[in-house]
Amino acid sequence: MATYKPWPVTFTSGSGALLRDTEGNEYLDFAGGIAVASVGHAHPRVSAAIAEQAAALIHVSNLYGTEPQQELAARLASLTGGMHSFFCNSGAEAVEAAIKLARRHAGDVKPGARTIVATDGGFHGRTFGALAATGQPAKQEPFRPLPAGFVHVPYGDADAMEAIVGDDTAAVIVEPIQGENGVVVPAPDYLGEIRSLCDRTGTLLILDEVQTGLGRTGRWFAHEHSGVIPDVMCLAKALAGGLPMGACLARPDIAAAFRAGDHASTFGGGPVQSAAALAMLDVIESEGLIENAAHMGELLMKGLDALFGSRATVRGRGLMIGVAFESDVSRAIASAAFDRHLLVNDVTPSVIRLSPPLVIDESDVARALDVLEEVRDEVAKA
Ligand code: PLP
Repeated sequence: MATYKPWPVTFTSGSGALLRDTEGNEYLDFAGGIAVASVGHAHPRVSAAIAEQAAALIHVSNLYGTEPQQELAARLASLTGGMHSFFCNSGAEAVEAAIKLARRHAGDVKPGARTIVATDGGFHGRTFGALAATGQPAKQEPFRPLPAGFVHVPYGDADAMEAIVGDDTAAVIVEPIQGENGVVVPAPDYLGEIRSLCDRTGTLLILDEVQTGLGRTGRWFAHEHSGVIPDVMCLAKALAGGLPMGACLARPDIAAAFRAGDHASTFGGGPVQSAAALAMLDVIESEGLIENAAHMGELLMKGLDALFGSRATVRGRGLMIGVAFESDVSRAIASAAFDRHLLVNDVTPSVIRLSPPLVIDESDVARALDVLEEVRDEVAKA
């Protein structure tokens, strides 16, 4: 079905931040599979983990245990201060699980609280619950009616959140940085203010770290920049090195609200994707990719600022970067970059998003900036 408008290229292989097409052309990938290819394309350790696990056992369902899944749950717990995981297959499903968990938990401790407060411009996925939490009317309108019990307030405005969160609120869901809305970074104290509001009102704080999580912003999780600890956290995208996998994590006392049979996924946390995720977490650690994301992100942002600073705002954290223009030029820029075999994402009509693999080095940054300089001049002439 024509749900995508793909660029006219067919890729056959990749390595690090490079992709190769059917004609043998090389592309520098600064879109990163939309923030998925964090350890680079076809990382040998991830590929080997997938091949080994696929040769041993591919699927048994969650009626039985597998070692990779058990190890992955333990590994994620060790990265998150002991959170428990529910495994699924995508970001949207991680959000669905978080919403159900929040309402289930509220049923136990805050009876009557059903409402989920989300933010304007926020993006949480395309399934109905996640779409209802999403704060982008154009994506919602054609599919109404959506599930009830979702309200939206302006992003970055803790006072607006305070005015609406109350006895009927089960949870607040926010992205630490809004990705699909064009890499919108809130003020440094925003998450902390929401955290204390949630504490005061007995409301769960769900952080959607599907895009910001797992090293992309220069920390394991973006909430670490503000010192805020979520009650529930959604992960997906980079988690299994490119295989479909999502996870809804929660503090153990909150996770306990789900009883057997409350939620499920046939494929969630299967042994192949769990083995891939374990390999991807190993690579992030052993190759120092979190530090690299912070360092390369600074370099790239500085370079982008020098190139575009007079006519655009460069914003983001680590290797989650947006260049926000005053007019709708992002398609023209992405297209001119594509012609020069650099992939960037025109995430909104006026914002270019860069979310390259975290493995990029100085020469990749320099190459991307060289291309973008040419692109800037070409688009300015047009
Ligand atoms: N949440 C956030 C913050 C996202 O950026 C996305 C996807 O871009 C999703 C959820 C949905 O993820 P998926 O496309 O895997 O369903």
